Amino acid sequence: MNDAVAQLATVRAGIAAAAREAKRPEGSVTLVAVSKTFDADAIRPVLDAGQRVFGENRVQEAQAKWPALRQEFADIELHLIGPLQSNKAREAVALFDVIETVDREKIAAELAREIARQGRAPKLYVQVNTGSEPQKAGIEPRQAVEFVERCRQVHGLAVEGLMCIPPADENPGPHFALLEKLARQAGVEKLSMGMSGDYETAVAFGATSVRVGSAIFGSR
Ligand SMILES: *Cc1c(COP(=O)(O)O)cnc(C)c1O
Repeated sequence: MNDAVAQLATVRAGIAAAAREAKRPEGSVTLVAVSKTFDADAIRPVLDAGQRVFGENRVQEAQAKWPALRQEFADIELHLIGPLQSNKAREAVALFDVIETVDREKIAAELAREIARQGRAPKLYVQVNTGSEPQKAGIEPRQAVEFVERCRQVHGLAVEGLMCIPPADENPGPHFALLEKLARQAGVEKLSMGMSGDYETAVAFGATSVRVGSAIFGSR
């Protein structure tokens, strides 16, 4: 078996076990396979194995790979998980099914404009910088609930979830707990949290999707 396909099965089993452990229903956690830096030939076996939800962190890279793969596999769901520049909003709305990195007013306004213009509405998550790291994207936790509200009221955007990337050198649990609390306060259902190193913990804290790259495709 292809390495990535074997590792995909391992990750799926890990998610299922963590969900069982947390007494969460089977199928309540979506695996987003993060395929950034891997080309179509590396991705295709994972598609053949039935995986349909993928994450990419760059708009241009995703544009180069996914339209052709979508010709082969019609029901692909593509998530943007990297920072979005406002001059890429048009391409992002055209290509992605979920944009997980809405984190400032200007992006919200651009997305609203493009959604109206294209008549295509990707699902939207707000990225929260739970560790308040200066170099990291995401809205500050104390502004998150108000920002979700402004996305809805001012820009007419239907925000469905929150996303976070905890600081690399910290225990992720408190960050996942904070994101879950903010989601409840903001009235959003989806929680995108957990990566290769901590997806089982994220499931225990209520993740509805986990973004796993290297544990499936290998190191980048
Ligand atoms: C690359 C990336 C991931 C996947 O990271 P791994 O550690 O390889 O699983 C998840 N989320 C975001 C936002 C990423 O950029």
